[in-house]
Amino acid sequence: MNTATHCDTDTSLVARSLRSVWHPCTQMRRHESAPPIAIAQAHGVWLHDSQGRRYLDAISSWWVNLFGHTNARINAALVDQLGKLEHAMLAGFTHEPVVALSEQLSALTGHALGHCFYASDGASAVEIALKMSVHAWRNAGQADKNQFICIAGGYHGETVGALAVTDTPLFRQAYEAMLRPAHIAASPDARQAQPGESVADVAARALADVERLLTQHEGRIAAVIVEPLVQCAAGMVMHDPSYVRGLRALCDAHGAHLIADEIAVGCGRTGSFFACEQAGVWPDLLCLSKGISGGYLPLSLVMASESIYQAFYDDDVRRGFLHSHSYTGNPLACRAALETLAIFADEDVLARNLAFAPVLAQAMQPLAQEPYVRHVRQTGMIWACDVVIDDAQAAATFPRRLAAEAARRELLVRPIGTTIYLMPPYVLNAQQAHWLGQQLHQAVLAAMEAT
Ligand SMILES: *Cc1c(COP(=O)(O)O)cnc(C)c1O
Repeated sequence: MNTATHCDTDTSLVARSLRSVWHPCTQMRRHESAPPIAIAQAHGVWLHDSQGRRYLDAISSWWVNLFGHTNARINAALVDQLGKLEHAMLAGFTHEPVVALSEQLSALTGHALGHCFYASDGASAVEIALKMSVHAWRNAGQADKNQFICIAGGYHGETVGALAVTDTPLFRQAYEAMLRPAHIAASPDARQAQPGESVADVAARALADVERLLTQHEGRIAAVIVEPLVQCAAGMVMHDPSYVRGLRALCDAHGAHLIADEIAVGCGRTGSFFACEQAGVWPDLLCLSKGISGGYLPLSLVMASESIYQAFYDDDVRRGFLHSHSYTGNPLACRAALETLAIFADEDVLARNLAFAPVLAQAMQPLAQEPYVRHVRQTGMIWACDVVIDDAQAAATFPRRLAAEAARRELLVRPIGTTIYLMPPYVLNAQQAHWLGQQLHQAVLAAMEAT
C-alpha cells in the first residue's frame, strides 16, 4: 500500500506533507521509514520542529543562510519593502532595490563585472551564463564556439542546460538522452596530491588537461565553467587558487570565456566575498545565488564583464539577450540581498569569519583525530573530512545513518557519501561550535558502530 492511502486519516503535518508534497532530491518511499521533520519556526542557528525539538542548522539550510534564521535586520528590511513595492516587472521598468544591489555588487568586483542580469534559482543563473557565452560568440561572428568544458565532479544545477555541465552520474543518468554532452576536464582535487607533490602541482596537472581539451577543440569552446576553490556538491572537494588563475590564462590564450559558478562559494563562504578574489582574477561571467538573499528568498544573478555586455549592445533586437523570468529582479529578494550586504559592511563579517574559521577547526578536533578520518580540510567557513568505511554496503548507508544519529543529537547535517561537512551560518558562536563538535563526534561514533 502506498503512503498516499495509508495515512489518509493521519492529520499530522508530516502525513499531509507526504500526501501532497513531492519533496526535492528525495526517493519518496524512503519517507516510509524516515519521515520528514516538520519545522514550525527558526531563530538564529536553530530550527525548531512542531514537536518542540530543535536542530542546529550546521549546513545553513542547504548552504543558503548566512546570518541566522529570522534575522532581525533582514526581517525589518523586508517589512519596510513590503509597504513600498512587492514586485514590478523588470523589462521596461526598474526600481531602487535592483539598482542599488547591482551597483554594490559591481563595486565589490572593482567594476570588473559591472552588469547584473537577474533570475531566481541558481540553475537559472547557470543557464543564463551558458546562453550569454554562446550568444556573445555568435554576435562576434564565431557561432562555432558553442561547446563547454566543465570539471570532473562539478555541479551546476538540475535544469537541462545546467545538468549538461554537471558531472554527477546519480543526477544525470535518467536524463542523459536530453543532455548535450560537455567536455569533462580532470579534477584539481587537492586530495590527489602524491607524496612529494604540492596542491599547486595537482592544480598544474589538472590545468594541463583543460589545455588539452581547449587545443583539441580549438575554435569550438565557448566557455569553461568552474566552481572556484570548492566543488561543494562533489563532497567539498577543494583545490589550490592557482587552478582558477591558470584557467583564466588558458581561457584568454584560447579565446574562451571563463564562467565562475559562485552560487555556493560566493558571499564570503570561502573567506573572501567572491572566491575568485583569492585567485586574483575575474571571470567573464559570475553566477551568484544561495547566500546572496541571506537565505530568505529565491534570487540569483549573473554578473557580466563589459566586453560580454558590449557584444549584445546593438540596434538589432535579435542581438540582444532576450532571456527572462517572471520574477526577474524581484524587489523583496533584492532588498533582502541589500540588507545582507549591509550586514557584511557594518559587522565586518569577512574579518570575523577569518578569525572564527580556526575556532571551527578546533571544535572539530576530537572527530578529526579518529583513526578512520581522512583528508580533514577547510576553506573559510566550509569544514570537511572523509571517513573510511571498507564495507561498500555500510558506506552506502552511512549518510542516512549519520543524518539520523545527528538529528537525535539536535543537529542538522547532510553527509555527501562518506564526506562529512559543515557549512554553518556565520552567526555561529564559539560555544555553539564546540557543542556542535561534540555532538557531531558522538553521532559519527554511533553511525560508525553500525558498520
Ligand atoms: C546549488 C548550486 C546550484 C544550483 O542552484 P539552485 O538554486 O539549487 O538551482 C548551482 N551551482 C552550484 C555550485 C550550487 O551549489
